[in-house]
Amino acid sequence: MAKVKGDIIIDIEKCKGCELCIEACPQDSLARSKQVNNKGYLYIVKIEDNCTGCTNCALVCPEGAITVYRKIDKKKELVTRVSNVTSDMTIKVDK
Ligand code: SF4
Ligand code: SF4
Repeated sequence: MAKVKGDIIIDIEKCKGCELCIEACPQDSLARSKQVNNKGYLYIVKIEDNCTGCTNCALVCPEGAITVYRKIDKKKELVTRVSNVTSDMTIKVDK
């Protein structure tokens, strides 16, 4: 069976600290930073290396600040990137 590991990239300057992604993460991988971004929001950071790449965080983020990747047998694939809530989103789900 293929070994799957997730990873995310957070655009901290887009983040408004709403915490929706924290609530949506089943792995408790996310938390608020103690630092603010350029807009003055406490942005989100990854606190655990246990992401499964489920995409929940990216799907609930109203700012499109999170990009999700999955590494399947060490091959890294983009699975979710939501660039803007008012435009199209591209989501790739499990094969
Ligand atoms: S992709 Fe899933 S497991 Fe990974 S940080 Fe986002 S919500 Fe958590
Ligand atoms: S859902 Fe988006 S805007 Fe809200 S805290 Fe998470 S990354 Fe920031």
